[in-house]
This record gives sequence, structure tokens and C-alpha cells, in this order.
Amino acid sequence: MKRKAIYPGSFDPPTNGHLDLIERGSKIFDELIVAILRNPEKDPLFSVNERRQMLESMTGGFDNVSVDTFHGLTVDYALRVEAQAILRGIRAISDYEYELQMALMNRKLQPGLETVFMMPAAKYSYLSSRLVREVAQLGGPVDCLVPDLVVQKLREKMDVANKFGAAGAHELEARSADRAAAERKTKSRKRKS
Ligand code: ADP
Repeated sequence: MKRKAIYPGSFDPPTNGHLDLIERGSKIFDELIVAILRNPEKDPLFSVNERRQMLESMTGGFDNVSVDTFHGLTVDYALRVEAQAILRGIRAISDYEYELQMALMNRKLQPGLETVFMMPAAKYSYLSSRLVREVAQLGGPVDCLVPDLVVQKLREKMDVANKFGAAGAHELEARSADRAAAERKTKSRKRKS
């Protein structure tokens, strides 16, 4: 049987720490789905579409990694895609308590599903999406923390926010979401024909 896992998270934005974990996960699972949680309660910096595009480009080199989005319970999504495991990262003791609670709750909800924890390279153990957002918003360098593409996207986001405020950023994001949807439609039409 193929070992399939999901790697759920917010990825707002995806960082080198996420990528490190994806690479490790891709070595022990036959198939790994990076699953972006669509959470209407959170006000993210990047839209789900933007995060999806960044992750797709970051993971393009891995044959057994794909990117998807989901909402609702992680265990329900895992069952739907027939995964046997949930991959999560532990950076420091501070992650442990929350991750343990979540893993035990998920086990209660779905006993057959295992949570697998992996540790990133030590150099990424202090790295979080929140810190990256804060450093970028204050104009600090994030080059070593996220892939080049994400550095670029963060710069664009900050430029738009500085010039036009949040409304401008949302307008730009809506246009890029429309473009992405149109591209996906064209691709699926091409596949069908
Ligand atoms: P969430 O909101 O679900 O915590 P995140 O995108 O912040 O979403 O994190 C998704 C998963 O990736 C979590 O298990 C988190 O511990 C892990 N993670 C985040 N940053 C790192 C990192 N630098 N190294 C290893 N794992 C990480």
C-alpha cells in the first residue's frame, strides 16, 4: 500500500522551514499533499490562491508532492484524500504543547490516522510565517528565510500596501485570483481536448 500523508497548515507565507519539512516528508512518504487550510476567520496576508501558487512553484521539483486547499476538519480532509498520516513540524518546546493537543484530538476524532512530527534543520527552528510577515512589514530583509519567489511576492505586497493601502492590495489580489482561475480553466480544457 502506498504511504500517503497530508501536510496541513496556513503557509502565510510559505517559508524555508516549510520547504525543509516538505523535503523530509517527501522522502518517507510515497505521496505528500501540502494542504492549505481555508480559514474564513483568519485575515491572511496572502490569499489562498497566492499561497497555492507559491507552494506549487516551490514544490515543482518533487514528483510525489502536490498542493491542495481544504476547509473544515483536517481529519475529514485526510480521509477524503485517503491519507494515512498527518505531517506536522515541531520547532521548539513551545510548539510541542499545542501540537500534542491537536494530535491527540485528531486521534480521538479519527483513531486510524497517525500524526507524524518532524524537526526541521536547526537553522530553521526559529523561523515562523508570523515572524517573516512582521520583518517584511517593517522593511527588514527576509532573503534567507523564504524562497526568492516569496521574497518577491512579499515585496510586491508591501509596495502595494505602501502606495495604496490595504484596499489596493485586495484589488490586486482579486485580479490575480481571476487570472489564476482563468489559467486553470485553460489548462483543464487543454487536458480534456
Ligand atoms: P498552522 O497555522 O497550522 O500552524 P503554519 O503554516 O504556521 O500553519 O505551520 C504548518 C506546520 O508547519 C506546523 O506543523 C508548523 O509547526 C510547521 N512549521 C512552521 N514553520 C516551521 C519551520 N520553520 N520548521 C518546521 N516546521 C515548521
